[in-house]
Amino acid sequence: MKLRRISTKFVLAVLAAVIVPFCGFAVFVDQTVAKRSLEVVKQALVGLATDLAREVDREIEHRRGEIALWTADPRTHEAIVEARSDRERTTWGVAETRAVAAGRRPGGPDRNHRREQTLAFDRYVENSRVYDLLLLVDADGRLVSVNCRGPDGAPLPELQLDRLFAWDFGAEGWFDQVVRSGEALVDHHRSERLGLRIPDDPSDLPRTYHIGIARAIHDVPGGEFAGALLGLVNWKTFDDLLRAPLVKDYFRGMVPEDVVPSPYAWIWGADADTILAHQDPRLIEERVSGELVNLPQMVADARSGTPGEAGLFREYTFHGVRKNAAFKQCAAGTSGFGWFVGVGINNEDIFAVTEELTALLYKGTAGVLLACVLWVLVIARRTTKPILALQTHTRRVAEGDLSARIEIGSRDELGELADAFNAMTRDLSENREALIKAEKDAAWREMARQIAHDIKNPLTPMKLSLDLLRRARAERRGDLEEILDRTLALMDRQVDNLREIATDFYEFTGGRKPVPQRLDTRTQVDEVLELHGAWAQERGVSIHIEGESRVVWADPGKLRRVLTNLVSNALQAMDEGGRLLVRIELPDESRVRIEILDTGAGLSPEARERLFEPFFTTKGEGTGLGLAISKRVVEEMGGDIELEPRADAPGTVARLDLPTPPEVARPMP
Ligand code: ADP
Ligand code: MG
Repeated sequence: MKLRRISTKFVLAVLAAVIVPFCGFAVFVDQTVAKRSLEVVKQALVGLATDLAREVDREIEHRRGEIALWTADPRTHEAIVEARSDRERTTWGVAETRAVAAGRRPGGPDRNHRREQTLAFDRYVENSRVYDLLLLVDADGRLVSVNCRGPDGAPLPELQLDRLFAWDFGAEGWFDQVVRSGEALVDHHRSERLGLRIPDDPSDLPRTYHIGIARAIHDVPGGEFAGALLGLVNWKTFDDLLRAPLVKDYFRGMVPEDVVPSPYAWIWGADADTILAHQDPRLIEERVSGELVNLPQMVADARSGTPGEAGLFREYTFHGVRKNAAFKQCAAGTSGFGWFVGVGINNEDIFAVTEELTALLYKGTAGVLLACVLWVLVIARRTTKPILALQTHTRRVAEGDLSARIEIGSRDELGELADAFNAMTRDLSENREALIKAEKDAAWREMARQIAHDIKNPLTPMKLSLDLLRRARAERRGDLEEILDRTLALMDRQVDNLREIATDFYEFTGGRKPVPQRLDTRTQVDEVLELHGAWAQERGVSIHIEGESRVVWADPGKLRRVLTNLVSNALQAMDEGGRLLVRIELPDESRVRIEILDTGAGLSPEARERLFEPFFTTKGEGTGLGLAISKRVVEEMGGDIELEPRADAPGTVARLDLPTPPEVARPMP
């Protein structure tokens, strides 16, 4: 579990290390770059609007120049003069104009000027492709001559000519103005009355609109007003200006290659409200503040701009799209109409680069992150694997398996750690072997020393007795018989003693396995006490037995040895006489308890602690094996043994618990 947490920590660290800076950068890009882009685009919009307005101004300037040239041409004046003098006799009209168009020469010498004027107008209309009509009007406002063909070279329809020749131009506003000031500009207007039909294709709609440029003609410069020339410039000329590729090309680099940039330009009238030109022809003549467009704040923005300077509209929404736009007013007064040229762009385009960049950043972040996480997982795996191995091996070592070795290929710190671990376990196992060997050696030495000591003890009195006997025989002493008896008795005792010691050692090394059987405790206890009777008497110790007899499940020989040792220990503890009590009890159904109580010296704290240690003895002749063997034997038989100070009197109580036979224990009959 913990190890998995290491890799989690790694991953979290990497996430923090990658995500935080990348996201910070992305936000920075979003904020700063987007703001910059917007600023740059706004400037570009202003520049573009200014350029377009200048183009419009130039176009109008150019056309005014052309009309001025026409009016300055003496032939134009002569045509008027010819018409003036002709009016009393014949008329120049539809038929004549049609005849010219048909390539014929209408009869009469007095008609040359008007005919030539018509032909000159034709050529100009056809070549310039800007004018639809060039109308020469006399001082009364009547048509003198007009081009007989349209810009496409087709003859003007008879109906149209009819209407024009019947028209009273003198009643028109521009005519008055020309009479007064010599020049007039007719703002954007529908030209249906001139017979231009509304086209089927809406994109041709601008063709049905015109602006008019008019100029006075005088008999002599500064003299009598003779008439006027009116040129109708097709609105298409200005419409085309707005559709110049320049507008889109300006922003080409901002959007992806396969996308057409959104910017487009438009022209509003001098009221900053009427739409004169727009990429959507349906909006022509509509009001910006009107219901259809409904952007009154743009009108307000345009009107509140500094005159002569370009300005920016506030960001707005048109047809559900957020946009930014700039405007510039064209020349006003005598030299222009004071229109407003506007250029707008969708916000989407402005932020396309930013969005592309941000998307790229996020994709990059995701990619880098994925790579990092995978890499970290690999590293974490590689790190935790040896740690896991170390963990399992440490556990094995803790459980005592010193043969555990870790195989780690890596040459890093973990590899070193594994090497150190292996060295440690190797040392440990070597040390342990050495220790065991040393312990074994010590144990055997101690054993040998004990055996030697225990055997030597009885040998000395035997040797002494034999020497005494030999001397008595050599000296032929009278008490030889008596000495011989004593020596034999001593020999007997010491041989018994030696056998006892040998048996002890044999038992200590393991002896034979106990073979339990049903035994009567009382019989066993009686046998042992009887054996010790003489000795007890010698020591002045009285022997007592309490309790009923019970049946135990034990090996008779082994139980006898245990009881013998406990009784002789008790007797040995009572140097100055005393009382030995053996008590048989049944603490519960499964156990029989034999207690041997003495009134002896008692147990020292050290003796209490070390009673059952082999070779622990406080006696000069003791082997210290008695209790050690007893404990093992009793436990082998499924019983328990303990010694403690008596609670009721000075002395010691030895408590021996033995199991009852597998069947229920019953008092012997
Ligand atoms: P040994 O009898 O050869 O000394 P044991 O194993 O039988 O060896 O006893 C160990 C020691 O325990 C004795 O030397 C003695 O100090 C102590 N001990 C045993 N029984 C008694 C007892 N009943 N009273 C006092 N000390 C005892
Ligand atoms: Mg003993």
